[in-house]
Amino acid sequence: MKKTLLLSIVAIACLTLSNSALSEQAPFAIAIHGGAGTIEKEKFTPDQEKAYRAKLTEAVEAGYFVLEKGGESLDAIITAIQVLEQSPYFNAGRGAVYTYDGSHELDASIMDGRNREAGAVAGVKHIESPINLARLVMDNSVHVMLSGQGAEEFAKEQGVELIENNLFDTEPRYKALLKAKQKLDKAKATSKEYQAAHKALPNSYKMGTVGAVALDKNGNLAAGTSTGGMTAKRYGRVGDAPVIGAGTFAENDSCAVSATGHGEYFIRYNVASDICARVKYQGKTIAEAGDEVINGVLKPIGGTGGVIVIDTKGNISLPFNTSGMYRASKSNTQATYVGIFSDE
Ligand code: ASP
Repeated sequence: MKKTLLLSIVAIACLTLSNSALSEQAPFAIAIHGGAGTIEKEKFTPDQEKAYRAKLTEAVEAGYFVLEKGGESLDAIITAIQVLEQSPYFNAGRGAVYTYDGSHELDASIMDGRNREAGAVAGVKHIESPINLARLVMDNSVHVMLSGQGAEEFAKEQGVELIENNLFDTEPRYKALLKAKQKLDKAKATSKEYQAAHKALPNSYKMGTVGAVALDKNGNLAAGTSTGGMTAKRYGRVGDAPVIGAGTFAENDSCAVSATGHGEYFIRYNVASDICARVKYQGKTIAEAGDEVINGVLKPIGGTGGVIVIDTKGNISLPFNTSGMYRASKSNTQATYVGIFSDE
């Protein structure tokens, strides 16, 4: 009897050991972005560059810490994105760009790779962390995407505090709005001319979103994206960031993607889900699929931007077709990487 008991204890101990060895081996990884665009080294002072790198490092490490402790990929991406939403450097949350009318309208979305559950908010004006509200939409509503006032009513019901829109005001973004309006108003004669002028605005007015993708120790992928959209946007314009399949996509069978760039192209070309479809149906690696869509499909038609992609093995790919993209990644086999320009 005693011998049997001893054997069972040894067997349980072995099982526990091999389980913990297995979970130690399970890959986990995170990647983040803080927007793509015309990002040139000459335009940064050494202190500014250092500050951007420090914020990217802080965000990726905060998300990684959640994963390392055994947390879920959904929680890891929210943690990372909230660090960026709270920073005025990025076009999301505190650093959101201005609309044509001088206010801020924020978009965000999140997707769970386990079951393709998703949540999104568009055009919210009084929500400090749109990515958090997107998660509440996913978890606590029967819908996928809520917009404007309705989304804010839902937020209130969920106990989210509404804040003043002017808390998103920052001087650099205001200056960018004035410059954009100068360019637009010159061409205001007809609606068609105005539209053409908007199309001609440089990249810097159209980018700066933040996002994150992660794989947790249980093999689950998640993706999220949060943005202030495009400087001088009008008529309730909504970009790709809250559109599932365009700016955000996650599915355990293929990959997780968060995008940044000229949203209209990302919507029309279904960028995030197209990358994962190539992985799923054509057996492409995420590096091949990401490069095909960003450089093969979007670049020739003038669709500027980039994506961060991760798969269930913990591979990470960060392709972009602009001069830079704020980005960072870390995995259980890769030390923290931070990049801004194209040559690093
Ligand atoms: N994709 C975003 C939008 O079009 C902008 C960005 O990525 O910076 O709203």
